[in-house]
Amino acid sequence: MLQIANYINGKLVEPVGKTYLDNYDPSTGQVYSYCPDSDERDVELAWQAAEAAFPAWSNLPNEKRSRILLRLSELVEKNLDRLAEAESIDQGKPKWLAKNGEIPRAVSNIHFFATAIEHFASEAHPMGQHAINYTLRTPLGVVGCISPWNLPLYLFTWKIAPALAAGNCVVAKPSEITPMTAYLLSELCIEAGLPAGVLNIVHGLGPKVGSAITTHPDIKAISFTGGTKTGAEIARVAAPMFKKLSLELGGKNPNIIFADCDFQKMLAETVRSSFLNQGEICLCGSRIFIERPIYEKFKSAFVEKLKNHPVGDPLEHHTQVGAIASKMHFDKVLSYIELAKKEGGKVLFGGHPVKLEGRCANGWFIEPTVIENLAYDCRTNQEEIFGPVVTLTPFDTEEEVLQMANSTSYGLAATLWTENLTRAHQMAASLRSGIVWINCWLLRDLRTPFGGVKHSGVGREGGWEALRFFTEQKNVCVKL
Ligand code: NDP
Repeated sequence: MLQIANYINGKLVEPVGKTYLDNYDPSTGQVYSYCPDSDERDVELAWQAAEAAFPAWSNLPNEKRSRILLRLSELVEKNLDRLAEAESIDQGKPKWLAKNGEIPRAVSNIHFFATAIEHFASEAHPMGQHAINYTLRTPLGVVGCISPWNLPLYLFTWKIAPALAAGNCVVAKPSEITPMTAYLLSELCIEAGLPAGVLNIVHGLGPKVGSAITTHPDIKAISFTGGTKTGAEIARVAAPMFKKLSLELGGKNPNIIFADCDFQKMLAETVRSSFLNQGEICLCGSRIFIERPIYEKFKSAFVEKLKNHPVGDPLEHHTQVGAIASKMHFDKVLSYIELAKKEGGKVLFGGHPVKLEGRCANGWFIEPTVIENLAYDCRTNQEEIFGPVVTLTPFDTEEEVLQMANSTSYGLAATLWTENLTRAHQMAASLRSGIVWINCWLLRDLRTPFGGVKHSGVGREGGWEALRFFTEQKNVCVKL
């Protein structure tokens, strides 16, 4: 069985402790490879390699760093099919989704920051004829990137690409639940000629490897995407060490549907925003608010659509909803469906695990689930489920829906469906979230600031924001 290796100092190496974790294929429930169970000794080796590589990497002209990263993005693109299949097997998502969405986005992430760095500039602030200030932006040194299991290669590259482009060296940890594509990427880094030590990938558990990265005294910044609880723990540890922190955390996103929307367009997109990637996207709209005049119409049309939204083998073309990434998460999602029933929820569709036949007989599958009749402030409507479960709630006025939409501790993304332009802009300004999509969902321009408010995170990724995060600013004032 394949044994995944760490990528340290340009080489694929086994963990110092020589111990491994089982890595499961969620569609079969079987172990199919082994992931290094690394610890602080591996992180230390990774840091040493990164520290040694930093002077040369940071001093390379931007154009040279850019060329190496462009080669890497081309290699990821060349390996699209292999990476998509690996991601699907490791994470449970349909292969077509990995092939059309996630892996191409990983290519774009690397390509985007490889080219962005060639245009990254800083400001000058002249003080009349007397003096001039200019801003120097320099890489931080060795930085840590920690990513989750839901969009493994997509989120991993979203962090390492700006860090590397800006001239930093990186110690990175993918989720131990989905280590495969980061491992395959390390092979491609070697092929692309990325100098040894510039990127180091240490596989293993959060409390061991993640925590060793966070607490390392010479890792200057942490870019983290994951759950709010883990984010709080990282902030608790890293803040007194005065590390730069970027935290992209959980969400409980509202999807607000007004009666004047383009119904068919909204309906198709709402199925996607509810259940894409089994609902395991931090941006999924899990609380659907519908203006009362179209509540019944929406409910029956939505449920009707889901009858043609099959749960199935992630490797099959027709599958819309694949496997849940881990047994632990599978149990968590099911426990929330039970909680919803206890809280008075009525299950309109789904609500059960799915038992498939053949290859996937022991996989972790859950029906897309639609629940109504819940109070907006009950636990089901306040806590992140992060699975194929949505709730429906009717509303009568803009004020009422705003109050319900803003009522959670999260504030990542919101979606609005209306043809009323004035209302759309007014609502967008009043929603407490980092991102608002109007008449669309997950339409991404990589230049825009990406991130959340409240317990959904601190800081922004994307575009110049990411390059600014991964550089230190210095103001130089010259008296003329
Ligand atoms: P976790 O917070 O459990 O884990 C995220 C990463 O942190 C993993 O690599 C994990 O390792 C690691 N980790 C765990 N504990 C520690 C620790 N003490 N110190 C350092 N690192 C640690 O999140 P999930 O992997 O479960 O991902 C799902 C969550 O991510 C959801 O809440 C989702 O909303 C959020 N998310 C947010 C996004 C955003 O952009 N805002 C985008 C995508 C997801 P290990 O897996 O080994 O435990």
